[in-house]
Amino acid sequence: MKILKEIDRQTFKDRFTDKSSCYVFLSELKWKDGYNCKRCDSTNYIKGKQPSSRRCRSCGYDESTTSGTLFHKLKFGIDKAFEMLYEIVTSKKGANSIWLAEHFSVNQKTAWLFRQKVQIAMKSSEQYPLENEVHVDEFEIGTPQKGEPGRSKSDKKV
Ligand SMILES: [Zn+2]
Repeated sequence: MKILKEIDRQTFKDRFTDKSSCYVFLSELKWKDGYNCKRCDSTNYIKGKQPSSRRCRSCGYDESTTSGTLFHKLKFGIDKAFEMLYEIVTSKKGANSIWLAEHFSVNQKTAWLFRQKVQIAMKSSEQYPLENEVHVDEFEIGTPQKGEPGRSKSDKKV
């Protein structure tokens, strides 16, 4: 997410042209510190059956690129999810779910749920292994800053 936030819209569009480029990106990010089988801890893998997944040579466990990430079990394509994530992390207000639903032609609940996941990931990196390297303070955009007063309640005029 950190990487996504830092790139401009054009670069984003050029880089993520289809599902496969999203999977490749995710897989590189996920195993950037090397591969370890979740089941038997083996470090040997072969290409798995799912897009960019890795299959353990010892026990045969095929780990998808999306498991343990924001993109696990989504109701829409990963390419759409990447775009949505980009909108959420780059938008100053975090892009509301009504707008997201309309813009990406998904139902509002789906948009809301995904947005929730993104915001939780932004706040607590521990729960999402993929986001371990992301620090919360890099997400001031989209989350209210501490100590900064919101709309003042004393504004009410009689
Ligand atoms: Zn294994």
